[in-house]
Amino acid sequence: MGNPKAFLTIHRQEAGYRPLHDRIHDFGEVEQTLNEKDRRTQASRCMDCGVAFCHWACPLGNKPPEWNDALYKGDWELAYRLLNETNDFPEFTGRVCPALCEKACVLNLTHHEPTTNREDECAITEHAFAENYIRIHSPKRNGKSVAVIGAGPAGLTAANRLNLKGYAVTVFDRNENAGGLLRYGIPNFKLNKTIIDRRISLLEAEGITFRYGEDIDVMSLPEGFDAYIIATGTPTARNLDIPGRELKGVHLALEMLAQQNRVLAGADISKDKLVNARGKDVLVIGGGDTGSDCIGTAHRQGCRSVTQIEIMPKPPVGHSDPANPWPAYPRTLKTTSSHEEGCTRRWNLNTLRFTGKDGKVTAAEVQEVTWESVADGGRPVMKPVGEPETIKADMVLLAMGFIKPVQPQFAENVFVCGDAANGASLVVRAMADGRRAAAEADRYLKR
Ligand code: FAD
Repeated sequence: MGNPKAFLTIHRQEAGYRPLHDRIHDFGEVEQTLNEKDRRTQASRCMDCGVAFCHWACPLGNKPPEWNDALYKGDWELAYRLLNETNDFPEFTGRVCPALCEKACVLNLTHHEPTTNREDECAITEHAFAENYIRIHSPKRNGKSVAVIGAGPAGLTAANRLNLKGYAVTVFDRNENAGGLLRYGIPNFKLNKTIIDRRISLLEAEGITFRYGEDIDVMSLPEGFDAYIIATGTPTARNLDIPGRELKGVHLALEMLAQQNRVLAGADISKDKLVNARGKDVLVIGGGDTGSDCIGTAHRQGCRSVTQIEIMPKPPVGHSDPANPWPAYPRTLKTTSSHEEGCTRRWNLNTLRFTGKDGKVTAAEVQEVTWESVADGGRPVMKPVGEPETIKADMVLLAMGFIKPVQPQFAENVFVCGDAANGASLVVRAMADGRRAAAEADRYLKR
């Protein structure tokens, strides 16, 4: 380790977002990059802790002390090799991961300025692509084959691991392209889709076959494979079954997000099917990542205003509880690039009904609630407070999460992973679970 005390004198420096006036008019990635010198300086802040909490906190078991050290010393290729040992696609997590490793960084506890692992990861990977030292592997084939159903991060990771072990891998997806929610959920301003295309080209060059537009019935899996990976995600969004739900202008978040990504990819959507916020007062129901992606998308489409409401209480901001020095993540108040772009945020609001005119939504009736603890430690109970109020809205986006699928009892050669197995979660968890499923399939096939 080159500079063990760097963290005492060097502050955390984030690359930050493109200026607001610039980024709000396009769907290009909002995040900027540091120059190489500053990036290496940031890497020097890593303390190489004896017990690296970052490694423990990362679902993939990433090893930031090792690759930050290589980065600090200027050995970008070694940094990529170390990173790629645990992470199949660091160009995805380097862009969209909430970086659980940074939340667990010891510098977070003492200085509230953790290392910049996520940005370091992205820089190391982009350097690897730019310098062309990502090798195309030609695995020796072992005569066995695996079908992967679902080309999201979990399926892609499982496919990559199994392909590298010599299995003939075919990935089936009902969409017209690979990536799952990376492509048809997460907006381009967080993850440009050329980043996915680049990786898919590599996977194809290494021998993986992709079959698109195939909606597989998991109860009747394609024949002729020795094992199957089910990585079909959580296709069912949570709905809001209240009066007025049928009004025009009330949409599930993904109707807008997936369509916008398709439009940017060149899809021709007829005017009557277009979900567009131009000139509208938008109400986003749901305070998570999907909700914030709706906000950023609505801004870029030219909305008049955005309000985001959440039924749960406002979470604490950072380390707001002096009695508890540990990071409060994931329940800290998160301000995303989309929130910076303008949004009224409110908490403790339950939505009672949508009202409209001529079949189109014009407002939502909401009511403030409190959450009361119950004596036996059970779930807090929601209680209404005061009178309902009206929020004007001519577009409503429901971003309230996804329902965890119930998987049937599969045969012993079928392995379920990612959101399909665990419910809606994170890209990094989906990838980690794809690795787990691939290892289990490999063990099964080698019995
Ligand atoms: P998915 O990505 O959902 O992929 C499943 C794939 O299976 C899809 O391609 C689908 O078409 C295919 N499929 C489904 N059924 C079938 C079938 N029967 N036959 C063939 N194919 C099928 N996570 C983060 O870490 N950071 C973020 O910033 C972030 N932002 C998000 C924003 C939004 C709007 C959403 C919705 C989610 C976000 N997430 C984020 C969560 C993350 O995207 C998911 O946890 C992750 O993509 C799950 O990966 P997966 O491979 O399990 O499933």
